Amino acid sequence: MNNIPLLPRTILGCDADYDSAETVVFGAPFDGTATYRPGSRFAPAAIRTESIGLETYSPYQDLDMPEDKICDMGDLDLPFGNTGSALKIIRNTAEAILKSGKKPVMIGGEHLVSLPAIEAALSLYPGLHIIHFDAHADLREEYIGEQLSHSSVMRRVYDLTGNNRIHQYGIRSGTKEEFLFAKKHTIFHPFDLNSIEDAVTVLKNKKVYLTIDLDILDTGVFPGTGTPEAGGVSFMELIKALIALKPLQIVGADIVELAPNYDTSGCSTAVACKVLRELLLCMSV
Ligand code: MN
Ligand code: MN
Repeated sequence: MNNIPLLPRTILGCDADYDSAETVVFGAPFDGTATYRPGSRFAPAAIRTESIGLETYSPYQDLDMPEDKICDMGDLDLPFGNTGSALKIIRNTAEAILKSGKKPVMIGGEHLVSLPAIEAALSLYPGLHIIHFDAHADLREEYIGEQLSHSSVMRRVYDLTGNNRIHQYGIRSGTKEEFLFAKKHTIFHPFDLNSIEDAVTVLKNKKVYLTIDLDILDTGVFPGTGTPEAGGVSFMELIKALIALKPLQIVGADIVELAPNYDTSGCSTAVACKVLRELLLCMSV
């Protein structure tokens, strides 16, 4: 069956074999704890389809996607009604990728999927620091009695890391208690990405996990999300911040909270694909 033209079944430029890959992308289509609008479970499949419309070349970094370094594993089959089981599957997956000496890049799903991926990275790198891009602090102790919620994900990460290991950027929404908690316990850079160089200085020679809640972007750029929050950063501000982080040792990363069906123009999905391309280039080339 040679010479039959077929579209790629992987995310753009992510067609390496697992064994030869240095970076492994996988989807975690789970939105079981969404507090406002669910739908992020559809993000990985939407990104996979939409990415084919993108170029493999990044003019921002003057780099092409490498041909043999990034593998797209596909999407995990997660039980939507069972948060504990879904998180366990994600943790086992991230841990297996990390243990084989590769870097996991996860596509959510809602933000809670980051917790098991960060847990897995912490089990290998106990001194790990976390860079957190988001509109929301995600530092609630619980939401409607649930400690495992996308609005509590960074608080659960804090339970594992303690003080000054979470570097938060872009935060412009949360309770007063969350903001007080952040000022006391995280390295807190609210509203924008202007002080990203601080993270580069502080985290030199340290292992880092980067979690990107795409709602850090302004709602005008990225309306396709579960909890839209006005007053966010521009696309170019996000890309410049990613490129600034390139010197760091990023051992794993994720992009979460795209809910493609709330933006019928498809632009939010296209934006997410472009962020993913730049992230992969920062981590792999
Ligand atoms: Mn979040
Ligand atoms: Mn958010």
